Amino acid sequence: MATQQTAAATATQVEEAWHAVIKHISACPSCLTPGAGCGTGGALLAAYTAATREQREENPDA
Ligand SMILES: [Zn+2]
Repeated sequence: MATQQTAAATATQVEEAWHAVIKHISACPSCLTPGAGCGTGGALLAAYTAATREQREENPDA
C-alpha cells in the first residue's frame, strides 16, 4: 500500500530527528541547563515535533 510506504518513510524521519535531538542534547551544556536556551536544540526539537505531527496525520491509527 502506498500509504504504508509513506508512513514507514515518515517513521524513519521521526527516528532520525529524535536521534539528532538526543545526540545534540547529550553533548550540549546549554541544553542541559534549564532555562539557558539553545537555538540548535530548539531547531532540532521543532524538526522532531514537526515530524511526529506529520506521522500522526498520515497514520492516525498508530
Ligand atoms: Zn543545545
